[in-house]
Amino acid sequence: MNRCRDYGKGSILNTNDDSFERSLIIIKPDGVKKKVIGEIISRFEKKDLTIEKLKMIKIDRKLACKHYQDHKNKSFFNMLIEYITSSPVVVMVISGKDAIVKARELMGATDSKKAKGGTIRGDFGDDITVNVIHGSDSAESAKREIELFFN
Ligand code: GDP
Ligand code: MG
Repeated sequence: MNRCRDYGKGSILNTNDDSFERSLIIIKPDGVKKKVIGEIISRFEKKDLTIEKLKMIKIDRKLACKHYQDHKNKSFFNMLIEYITSSPVVVMVISGKDAIVKARELMGATDSKKAKGGTIRGDFGDDITVNVIHGSDSAESAKREIELFFN
């Protein structure tokens, strides 16, 4: 067996390429209840994204408020916190080439009713709040969110 095999560009060892990104993904309470955890993970893997970290937790209010801090003045904030803390979620770090935008494309529009068929929210979401999945929206958010959930 060749223990010194060169895995090459884009491999698990190559993290200094500019297009290599990480994103924090949350399969929200409705996604877990709808039994689409496996389906969602499969969609990421089929797009050549790597599941680097994964855990199931029940998010408490403090963590939820920190995660959604940018939305604290929005009218829907309390509803959002109630929803995300209502039952267990799956939290993951995914990585790969353009992982942030690729994940957002797979997720679809925020409002499940407007999200296209074939996207995760379009296929499994209920409405604008109950929309199956969270994915970081920028490299800056991804860094903050990954540190918050996997510290
Ligand atoms: P995302 O990045 O697509 O998840 O959307 P945002 O960051 O704008 O919002 C965070 C989460 O808040 C969304 O995923 C929804 O669960 C919820 N949300 C966003 N906009 C609205 C809204 O206008 N009304 C309600 N009720 N919930 C919303
Ligand atoms: Mg967002």
